[in-house]
Amino acid sequence: MKITFIRPGIGRVNPEKPELATIEPLSLALLSAMTPPEIDRAFYDDRIENIPFDEPTDFAVLTVETFTAKRAWEISAEYKRRGVMVIAGGIHVSLIPSEALMNVNSICINDAESVWAEILDDMATGNLKPWYQGNNGEPQNGFLPDRRLFKGKKYLPLSLVQFSRGCPYSCNFCAPAVYFDRKMFHRQIDSVIKEISEQKLKNILFVDDNITANQERATELFQELAKLKIRWGSQGSIEMTRNKKLMEAMAKSGCIGHVLGVESIDKSNLLHINKIPNLNQDIDTAIDIFRDFGFQSWAALTVGHDNDTPDTIRNLVDYVIRKKFAFAAVNMLVPYPGTELYKQLSSGKRLAFSGKWWLHPEYQYNEAPFIPARMTRQQLTTACADGWEKFYSHSSIASRSFDFKTNLSSPFRAGIFLVYNYIFRWEYYRTNFMKFGLEHHYR
Ligand code: SF4
Repeated sequence: MKITFIRPGIGRVNPEKPELATIEPLSLALLSAMTPPEIDRAFYDDRIENIPFDEPTDFAVLTVETFTAKRAWEISAEYKRRGVMVIAGGIHVSLIPSEALMNVNSICINDAESVWAEILDDMATGNLKPWYQGNNGEPQNGFLPDRRLFKGKKYLPLSLVQFSRGCPYSCNFCAPAVYFDRKMFHRQIDSVIKEISEQKLKNILFVDDNITANQERATELFQELAKLKIRWGSQGSIEMTRNKKLMEAMAKSGCIGHVLGVESIDKSNLLHINKIPNLNQDIDTAIDIFRDFGFQSWAALTVGHDNDTPDTIRNLVDYVIRKKFAFAAVNMLVPYPGTELYKQLSSGKRLAFSGKWWLHPEYQYNEAPFIPARMTRQQLTTACADGWEKFYSHSSIASRSFDFKTNLSSPFRAGIFLVYNYIFRWEYYRTNFMKFGLEHHYR
């Protein structure tokens, strides 16, 4: 029996040219670790290589996110045409199983680890069921990812590790908040430490949804990480800055910085999206505390909220430039299926692209997929693009670099700042307004 694991991409600017490099997909390495050695396996990452659809295999296993769903269903169609059974899991499949069921032979809801042994048994006996109902629970079940899967692939020198899944908050646009139903699940700290030590990981990105949401457990983890001499980053909410013990442990543990969910600086927007951690404290103070600890951080912004206009979006981008964030993502607010935001926009008849922007043949990356309250769709799309261009302009990069507490605090930090600013700038210009999937290239 042979299984081919597939990580679909979003699309490609040039269908013949995969991306140069990207980050490893952790979830498939976990499934590989849970697969007995006698089962043959292959792995293809559609972002960085072409999938050899004619290579013999019995099953294709796809992990699907909303942004990659269109491409995932194209890949599934290729395999099904060749008589290969396709199984799909991942957050998009759990958010909208009916769509997945129309495109693959079998789906897995929630964490695949919890039902993977049953799926393998059913594959072996030819009794694959259309629906596997997994549970969300402690990540990884004590397994360590099979990173041999990544050998020879062009990944950035950054290892993905997870400590927790989920988040106790319920921001109205957040897909993980729906998926985990406001619950958090943690791995045992000694399992995380074992993974990092045994697999000799040095530069780590923790893929947690909100690594500091449980501050006590996060502090315990950071105290253990401090013994390993690693460099790491993750994402979290700004409320962590109110806990001095946690911040000190984080600084000693090799943390470089975090993606911070800034979203908006407009209180009415934050209220509307239910961004509780940002409403509980002054964002200016929180960001200053971050800088004082020397962390280089990435502002995760979302634009298109009900109180947004082109002017407020400009102000938001100016604010994060003024605060000298190392990086920022000026993300279009997107209504993921199943979220509160999606339901609100749908009941207000404000969804464009027939309510399924992620599958629509005309939808383009970074385009407004709904009708904003205080501007047109086109104005929002333009304001979002202008925000990216301004943040990653040469003058912004130069002015943000002059921060001796963070971006110029050492040659290493300066190197990270410069290299990644220009990677993100290049990536923005390369992918902005790219269509999803590959089929449109061949129509
Ligand atoms: S704080 Fe972050 S992870 Fe938690 S619900 Fe809000 S957006 Fe999602």
